[in-house]
Amino acid sequence: MAHILFIGLGNMGSGMAANLVKAGHEVHAFDLSEKAIASAVANGAKAVSNLGNFDASKIDTVITMLPAGKHVASVYTSTEGLPASIPAGCLFMDCSTIDVETAKAVGEGAAKRGFFFVDAPVSGGIAAAAAGTLTFMVGGPSESFDKAKPFLEAMGKNIFHAGGAGMGQAAKICNNMLLGISMIGTCEAFNLAERLGLDAQKFFDISSTASGQCWSMTSYCPAPGPVPNAPSNNNYKAGFAAAMMLKDLRLAGGVAETARASIPMGAMAEQIYTLMEAAGKDDLDFSGVMKLLKGKL
Ligand code: NAD
Repeated sequence: MAHILFIGLGNMGSGMAANLVKAGHEVHAFDLSEKAIASAVANGAKAVSNLGNFDASKIDTVITMLPAGKHVASVYTSTEGLPASIPAGCLFMDCSTIDVETAKAVGEGAAKRGFFFVDAPVSGGIAAAAAGTLTFMVGGPSESFDKAKPFLEAMGKNIFHAGGAGMGQAAKICNNMLLGISMIGTCEAFNLAERLGLDAQKFFDISSTASGQCWSMTSYCPAPGPVPNAPSNNNYKAGFAAAMMLKDLRLAGGVAETARASIPMGAMAEQIYTLMEAAGKDDLDFSGVMKLLKGKL
């Protein structure tokens, strides 16, 4: 049984922490939100209400699931980020989606202080986090990956070692850029089908077995009807918020500039999600681009 400090128990972290408890680990839960801590406790975790006072001498693993790079850096690199009593040799595992540079810097800083670090962002969403079926893409040295694997297996179904520090984030950012582009394309196709008088279910039946088939269509259809549990059937309530997709597309834009990679479609996708942000509707699911196309945002 491991002694885990889990920081960030929001939409994703709460399900992940619950699965670690189910796997027999002792999970200590900290979040800035008391409500988030309370729901983790309801799932069998122990509450940490103040990190500064927490006796972390038994902790062997720290897992973070936080909104963005600045939150992750504040936990792992600032003096108040983690309790001073965290023992050397502890495994740090950041599962948030953040920029590659921060992931590399946090990993290097942790190694210098005698800790193991992996960046281990996830794909799969809230339902997969709760079901323990996430996909993890992991960056870091093999030794750190091997230490992280049993925990990742308790929270996920597909575990990939993508390469050295930051390569988990690189894989995640490339994947999500593709997802953003494919979702917009799927919205355009279903909207055009409707304008042409073609029934959404009929188009789904045809395209999902033809060359237009993609995950955005078959698992997350942005037109109401064909995929019953997709956010399109719930007035586009997130799910995976447009704001989160925009964050990932901006991360892709940043690294593409540094790497001098041309991403014209990714840049266009970023602009489209920026329109949702400007309209104050980026809390909608990212499939809500359908509403934008219909002029009903
Ligand atoms: P969320 O906003 O629901 O949860 C984040 C939690 O972190 C919140 O409870 C917040 O109070 C807490 N928090 C913020 N700063 C903190 C700090 N300094 N110390 C302690 N707690 C702090 O977000 P989420 O949907 O769970 O997403 C988390 C990460 O997972 C993001 O990086 C996101 O991009 C990624 N992700 C999300 C999904 C999804 O479908 N929601 C899918 C894949 C990846």
